[in-house]
Amino acid sequence: ARWTLEDGWGGAEIVPFGPVELSPAAAVLHYGQEIFEGLKAFRHADGSVWTFRPERNAERMQRSARRLALPELPVEDFLGSLSAITAADEPWVPEATSEESLYLRPFMFASEEFLGVRASHCVDYYVIASPAGPYFPRGVQPLVVWISDEYARAGAGGTGAAKCGGNYASSLLAKEEAAENGADEVMFLDSETHSSIDELSGMNVFAVTADGRLLTPSLTGSILEGVTRESILRLAADRGLEVVEQQLVMGEVLRQVDRGEITEMFAAGTAAVINPIGELRARGGSWTVGEGGSGEVTLALRRELTDIQYGRIPDRHGWLTRLI
Ligand code: PMP
Repeated sequence: ARWTLEDGWGGAEIVPFGPVELSPAAAVLHYGQEIFEGLKAFRHADGSVWTFRPERNAERMQRSARRLALPELPVEDFLGSLSAITAADEPWVPEATSEESLYLRPFMFASEEFLGVRASHCVDYYVIASPAGPYFPRGVQPLVVWISDEYARAGAGGTGAAKCGGNYASSLLAKEEAAENGADEVMFLDSETHSSIDELSGMNVFAVTADGRLLTPSLTGSILEGVTRESILRLAADRGLEVVEQQLVMGEVLRQVDRGEITEMFAAGTAAVINPIGELRARGGSWTVGEGGSGEVTLALRRELTDIQYGRIPDRHGWLTRLI
């Protein structure tokens, strides 16, 4: 679906998936003035289709827009765009029984044609919809995570808290390095002291302690404010875990893993929901987290969140919005 900002966000069009026309001098191609979001549409057993806390994505997109000098799309228009594309692609929303979903990717970019460095006055907003298979077709697989000691993803005053393409561009080389070292994902440390955990390239990070606490890095301005993160903190508190948002010093976390004080770690985001972390790897060695598999708290939180999303248990926090 395609929307252009000309006297408001009217003019929405549902168009077949295909190439977009863009000037070679379009600002986005040179200066990366672009932001995006990622959500899923879930079919419930009665055939209805829902999405999860979309207003949080709409608000985050507005914060990203402000940081990237792009116009803020009103929340109602963001929600309307999700309903419109999902209605158009209704046959593509997988069955309720499948653990699959329709992935929705709203994005906005600067399309004005010029070569000087300034904010573009012309922007396009699109939503791509694409069926997404189950993230773990062979059961939940723990991640091996490479701790990047060389590259940072975001610095103070930078765009780390915004969901913009540039942040992902700066993570790609570190991801390649992780792959060369046999790891699935990369863990970024803060750029200032290079000592405390920020996040993975597309997920927030959590640790469960033997004494019943759930630890996660506090939002410092360089971490994406994950919708899954916020929801997990709520579900964990409901379960009686003590939720602690604080600076997590990497060296201290590794010592706690060694001493068995941290028993589980996991990463969380829209795509995987929750992905256990089985091993941390760095130039100096490797650390198995707990038993190296999927911990009990990790799997229980994952089950509860997906049960809410697929409508299998009551939505007690009112997190679901009906799309069709
Ligand atoms: N951090 C980064 C860098 C991400 O790209 C994502 C995925 N959007 C997340 C965290 C998790 O955010 P959410 O739970 O909103 O998907």
